[in-house]
Amino acid sequence: MSTIASISTAPGIGGIGIIRMSGENTFKILDKIFVQKNKEEINNIKGYSIKYGHIVDETEVVDEVLVSYFKAPKSYTTENMCEINSHGGNIVVKRILELCLKNGANLAEPGEFTKRAFLNGRIDLTQAESVIDVINAKSEREVKAGIKQLEGELSKKINKIKQKILDIMVNIEVSIDYPEYDDIEEVQNKQVLDMLDDAQNELNILVKSFENGKILKEGIRTAIIGKPNAGKSSLLNAILKEERAIVTEYEGTTRDTIEEFITINGIPLKLIDTAGIRDATDEVEKIGVDKSKKIAEEADLIIAIFDCSKELTDDDKKILKIIKNKKSIIILNKIDLNKKISKNNETLSSVSDKIIEISAIKNIGIENLYEKISEMFNLNEINIDNEVLITNIRHKDLINKAIQKIQETKTTIENHMPIDIVAIYIKDILEALGSITGETISEDIINEIFSKFCLGK
Ligand code: GDP
Repeated sequence: MSTIASISTAPGIGGIGIIRMSGENTFKILDKIFVQKNKEEINNIKGYSIKYGHIVDETEVVDEVLVSYFKAPKSYTTENMCEINSHGGNIVVKRILELCLKNGANLAEPGEFTKRAFLNGRIDLTQAESVIDVINAKSEREVKAGIKQLEGELSKKINKIKQKILDIMVNIEVSIDYPEYDDIEEVQNKQVLDMLDDAQNELNILVKSFENGKILKEGIRTAIIGKPNAGKSSLLNAILKEERAIVTEYEGTTRDTIEEFITINGIPLKLIDTAGIRDATDEVEKIGVDKSKKIAEEADLIIAIFDCSKELTDDDKKILKIIKNKKSIIILNKIDLNKKISKNNETLSSVSDKIIEISAIKNIGIENLYEKISEMFNLNEINIDNEVLITNIRHKDLINKAIQKIQETKTTIENHMPIDIVAIYIKDILEALGSITGETISEDIINEIFSKFCLGK
């Protein structure tokens, strides 16, 4: 395989920049561009060592650097590798990369280092995929789930189930080879069916965990709606001011909306159309019933806010109609003022049993909101420490496929199909499971997975 090079640090100004190389010729290329302080011959260089010196272009010094050496097979990719730590910024790192390329390296594709780690057998596909999950994580919980997967927890689980299926296969192959043992067929069928049931149950648990994994990864799509002046932007500010809120802003998936991903006390919320709330400075423009309807359609959770110092109006009732039959929390805001409506109001309680009273301005009662959300989405039950969570739709689809194949296998056995037909169905189960860890998977899919990676990883 060729030797590849890439800048691994994010573009922009920073203290340090890192240029990575991997491949057989890594040390040879380094030898041409790196002048070490106390020079050691290539062959004498030890892995896991760091050398100080200068990157040079012929006689010109380009930068003062530290170079980490990783000797095959003990490196990220299992090949000879190095990481050049230079000064940060845009110019120096680019210049060093160009020098690597000029001296024989090829520019790495996105994710190519990790792809090599996979192709060279150091990690399996679920582990490789978790690398990108960790990098893209928006919450600590998500990182935790990613790291667990990187440590091989999901692969272990899948391989265990696969082993069970393989045991069944061995059982069946014996029957194919020794058809004279026909009389034990009934006993054996029962045993095989039981084993298949077991595997199916375990896979079902994994599929269920996807719901939780999805929440961690994508956040609960949350809309804050309410009449103008109910206190939407005040609530938003109170949430964002929360000490432990981690905010990431990015463009919404639907046009004209801004979405913010925030994590509070481990609760991942994807707030829909916060721009509509923040920028609504003009009274007339303030987000109203029509817009609320549109936003509510996209949400997993609606937080509907009402001014409790005023009687419910027709517009309020329209909003209640919007949230009826949806997962929603009703907030009665402004409890610091004279209350005209309370939690016990029948119009409200007929729509939702989750009603909380707060003062957004005085920051009273907001934590009840987080508690209610945790309850509604069973977030307290998501125990990353003890559970393997599926966070990747590719994994979920393949597990579902395996479940379906198990079901089909069971039917063939129950219908007393010839044993060699049953064996064919079982091979399909094994193939679906093998695709998760990357044992049986096409090159196209591998390329697609790694194309989503960032450069230098
Ligand atoms: P929005 O139109 O729904 O975004 O409402 P705002 O958040 O802009 O609030 C409208 C008005 O109500 C502002 O003058 C806020 O200061 C005021 N307000 C918001 N929350 C409270 C509260 O908890 N108590 C009191 N007394 N006033 C509030």
